[in-house]
Amino acid sequence: MEEKIISKQNLLNLCRDIVADGHNLIAPGKTEYGVVQDTSQIVLDTSSKPTKASYKTFVFPKAEPILYYKRGKNDVQILDAEPEQKKTVILGAKPCDTNSFNILSKVFNWDYKDDFFNYRVKNFIVIGMMCEFMDKFCFCTSVGSSPVSEKGSDLFLIPLDAENYAVRIVTEKGKELIDKYSKYLTEGNPAKSKEVEEKVKHPEIAFDSQQVHDWLAKNFEHPKWEGIGDMCLSCAQCAFVCPVCHCFDIVDEDYSYTEGRRMKNWDGCQFGHFTLHASGHNPRDIQGKRYRQRVNHKFKYYVDKFGEILCTGCGRCSRGCAVSIDIKEIVADCKD
Ligand code: SF4
Ligand code: SF4
Repeated sequence: MEEKIISKQNLLNLCRDIVADGHNLIAPGKTEYGVVQDTSQIVLDTSSKPTKASYKTFVFPKAEPILYYKRGKNDVQILDAEPEQKKTVILGAKPCDTNSFNILSKVFNWDYKDDFFNYRVKNFIVIGMMCEFMDKFCFCTSVGSSPVSEKGSDLFLIPLDAENYAVRIVTEKGKELIDKYSKYLTEGNPAKSKEVEEKVKHPEIAFDSQQVHDWLAKNFEHPKWEGIGDMCLSCAQCAFVCPVCHCFDIVDEDYSYTEGRRMKNWDGCQFGHFTLHASGHNPRDIQGKRYRQRVNHKFKYYVDKFGEILCTGCGRCSRGCAVSIDIKEIVADCKD
């Protein structure tokens, strides 16, 4: 794989050029990913904690109009909403975030091709970065990734020393970006970056995902779900911070008697009303059934349907849970 070297200062210069060229630049700040106006906002540190939420909102916004309508006396006029088609570069994404678009693409291109998601992903360039953070909630290695995984990245950064990064060119998209700003890069030394990479500590593997899948297939009615449900607050924080949760609801919002818009809004399977039928019946009427759905969707149903685990092992859901529900522990306990 082709590799280059960029100094920290030149990486900031490159970021400045990306913004000056009219592209969106998204990078981690102290606690969240954000759109960069000024490069002093960027916090690039391989040892930093994952941001509180992933960057999925930049391809799958919390709320977005999908069409507008106008009612006439005898007809309705429909106007398409167009997603913004602006090139966007994400800098410094951890491997537990970079593969999220690949995983999400499966569901957004299954029975219906979601143009809003696809247009944005097509215009995204992901610059991933090796990760040296690890806490008790991390489990990327249990779901087929690692702190040095390039999956989902177009370019991948490895810090060589205090002043320089190796830049691995993973895809054609990444190469195009590098070629455009080549004045900031020099020839790489893959032996040196390999040496750095080999020293990175990996989280211990916490479970065998195939065994978890098979256990879930046999234990739909297991009493553990009710116990977890008794603790869970049904707040859906876990879904909103997750790089790959993707429940949404479609709602018509009237501006007036004649005009309105149809919105796609994030939703969460941990909310009691998520499966509430108009009749009043709710097939997931207790929280235990909702948490069981969360785990089954991620570790069984998505695997059966798309051959992917719907989880990158980032640990965000557990790190942020107000009642310390830890998905890694729960999944690791899915065994006889
Ligand atoms: S964040 Fe914790 S309390 Fe909130 S819905 Fe998720 S598991 Fe339940
Ligand atoms: S389920 Fe939790 S650990 Fe898995 S990707 Fe989502 S937030 Fe991260």
